[in-house]
Amino acid sequence: MSSFRNRLLALMLGLIVATQSVTLFAVLARVGDDVEARAGENLIAGASYASQFLQVRSGQLAAAVAVLAQDYGFREAVASADSATMGSALANHMRRVNADVGLIADIDGVVQVLQAGSRRESSLTLKQLQVQANGGGPQAFNAVVGDQAFQFLLVPVRAPRTIGWVALGFALNDELAGELKHLLAADVSLLALDAGDAVLAASSLSEGQRRELQQSARQLPQGGSAQRWRTGEGGGWLVCVAPLPGNGDRLYLVLQRTMTSVQAPYREVRDVMLAVGGTALFLAVAFGVWLARTMTRPIAELEEAAGRIAQGDYSANVMAKGGRELSRLAASFNSMQRGIADRETQIRHRAYHDELTGLPNRFGAEQALEEMLRQYGSNALIGCVMISAHSVREVNASLGYRVGDEAVASLAKRLQDTCGRNDIVARVGAYRFLIVVRQCSLEQARLLAIRLQATVRAELAVDGAMLSLNAAFGVCASPDHGYEASLLLRRAEIALQGALDGDRPVVVYESGRDQGYHRRVQLTAELHKALKNNDLRLVFQPKVAIADRRVRSVEALARWRHAELGEIAPAEFVTLAQQTGLIRQLTRTVLRKAIRQLGQWRKMDVEIEVAVNVSAQDLMDVTFADEVLAELRQNGVPPTLLVLEITESAAMREPVTTAQHMQLLRVAGVRFAIDDFGTGYSSLSHLSRLPVDELKIDRSFVSRSHESRDDRIIVSSTIELGHAIGLRVVAEGVETHEVWTLLRQLGCDYAQGYLISKPLEPSQMVDFVRRANEVLTDSSPTLAQLRALNIREG
Ligand code: C2E
Ligand code: CA
Ligand code: CA
Repeated sequence: MSSFRNRLLALMLGLIVATQSVTLFAVLARVGDDVEARAGENLIAGASYASQFLQVRSGQLAAAVAVLAQDYGFREAVASADSATMGSALANHMRRVNADVGLIADIDGVVQVLQAGSRRESSLTLKQLQVQANGGGPQAFNAVVGDQAFQFLLVPVRAPRTIGWVALGFALNDELAGELKHLLAADVSLLALDAGDAVLAASSLSEGQRRELQQSARQLPQGGSAQRWRTGEGGGWLVCVAPLPGNGDRLYLVLQRTMTSVQAPYREVRDVMLAVGGTALFLAVAFGVWLARTMTRPIAELEEAAGRIAQGDYSANVMAKGGRELSRLAASFNSMQRGIADRETQIRHRAYHDELTGLPNRFGAEQALEEMLRQYGSNALIGCVMISAHSVREVNASLGYRVGDEAVASLAKRLQDTCGRNDIVARVGAYRFLIVVRQCSLEQARLLAIRLQATVRAELAVDGAMLSLNAAFGVCASPDHGYEASLLLRRAEIALQGALDGDRPVVVYESGRDQGYHRRVQLTAELHKALKNNDLRLVFQPKVAIADRRVRSVEALARWRHAELGEIAPAEFVTLAQQTGLIRQLTRTVLRKAIRQLGQWRKMDVEIEVAVNVSAQDLMDVTFADEVLAELRQNGVPPTLLVLEITESAAMREPVTTAQHMQLLRVAGVRFAIDDFGTGYSSLSHLSRLPVDELKIDRSFVSRSHESRDDRIIVSSTIELGHAIGLRVVAEGVETHEVWTLLRQLGCDYAQGYLISKPLEPSQMVDFVRRANEVLTDSSPTLAQLRALNIREG
């Protein structure tokens, strides 16, 4: 009901019904009153007419009786009481005026002759009329005898004195009432209202109605006006009661019509008016419905269209019908719809595409992959290769973001060219691309990744510079590694992470790596807590100078014992910290602990350096140098006693910024070591540009150097080249005497490894250093020194 259309319709119909009802009611009331008034007037006129009619008859009687009373022969007959002559004369006159009764009485009122039309009348005696017959002249009167009424004219017979009486009369009977009814179109009754019972002398009414009239005769409204008379049944009567002129009994003329008949013309008018009104109302309703529909249809259409737009359907235009305003509204609506559709297309495009390359982004890629999986079913062969062209970061650092962006765009173009039209090429991260190929097995995907290495490495000419990019590749495939887009993407990502962390540029996803993923998610949260609660501790591993075998330095190594998972390998949590941005906090903790520890050792007269591992992110942070120097100052430790170890690949990530920040610390006296040297890709010439003091040959080369020629060559050439550019060289992972001896022969400066000591708790360290250095200060033979260090010369 609350819709605009229904309200409009209800309003219109309400108005129509109200005006019609008011009009109809007023008119009908008026007509009703009018009809009744007119019927009343008619009744009054009828009553007067009936009175006149009776008077006329009375006149006829008077004439006839006068003629008879003056007839000489008749007077003779009366004087001589000649009944036969009297009788025939009377009969003659009666016949002439159609009188019902006639009588002749002597002077004493004794009826001499009585002529009557009916038996009842023949019982009349003048005695019954005596009251009237005592006067002198002719008299007209009405008389009720029994239940019979008469209209009489009584005349004295004079010769010249009164010798008798002669009277003629008409019966006022039902017949007369019937005739009057016929003339007046109303029921006519004659009612005698005397002291006694009311007598209904004549009437045109039916038996039942007569009884009713007789019973309630005294309550009838008198006075000659027409009034309602309500009776038990039906609608009652309209009655006019008028006294009958004449000096006889108190006779009344009652004219009455049933209300039903009175109101017949009213009903007729009413029926016609109702019919006309009903038709008009029906037409109005029909018109109203039609009008409301036509008026509200455009609004309903707009509403429907708005609903469609809300559902994202912009296809149908709203038809502009129903007047100029609505047409204009529909037109603006359509243009708004087009606007929304255009903008939505743009927004959707932006949401699913990368602006720089125009390729699908991660969401777009996932959607496209989902679509492909749906389209080709569960046994489709689909290969995924996730590429990290991380060396673009270095391009950004050295040549600026514009060149970096161009490099990314060119690489995107190149990848697109290598792939088919039905394959997906997407940019899923700043330096990340995803390639999805149909009808491609896992092995084919792996081969594709290997081929793509060349594609990525091929020189790019950007802004006059020739660039060669490095990349890592993670490979997975469906159905081998799942049927869901998100799962496949995650697994490609895990494989890629493997490639980034390890030394193989192309890594295929291995089943079960997901568990590692879940563990990583859990550990990240826990590591955050551990750092906040200071749950990490440090152990220290000594480095000894190979020449004099003194412990000169210790490397601080972080340890984390998890309440449920036990000891977590540093390689695991450090990598996690680097990937999740927790590394800055971790380094800060380790540095603080290590420097404080160093301060305590110095108070105990243990003079050693401490080495702390730092990551690329630390050195990229402008506040890092200040933090380190502040911590050293607070603990009274000279900066020259701190060595910061950084892997070569970390140092090369943003070489310019890193070198600048390193320089700040170096000026203060802090020194730097290149960790895991030999595992990265950069050349020594690159390294020479970094402000470092120490090289740590990676333990993978050192530990096998006594048995592998290649490793030995790497170790020996690194020592040589390091010395050539003025760096001290440390070998890590020294596990055997053979290696120790070899390193000594090759002139390596320092050794670190299990042969000398495993990483020690801080409390053990004091003892260890004292013992080793004490013995060593003593000029005892080499063997003794070595024994003190638990080292046997091989
Ligand atoms: P790293 O800097 O190369 O540290 C040396 C690692 O080699 C240590 O492992 C040490 O226990 C182990 N090692 C020492 N001598 C020998 C040996 O003779 N043979 C063998 N096989 N291993 C030896 P750890 O403590 O498990 O640390 C692993 C890596 O975790 C470290 O490698 C370092 O990269 C990282 N790390 C440890 N603590 C920290 C830290 O506080 N900060 C940062 N950024 N990284 C850390
Ligand atoms: Ca290290
Ligand atoms: Ca190392």
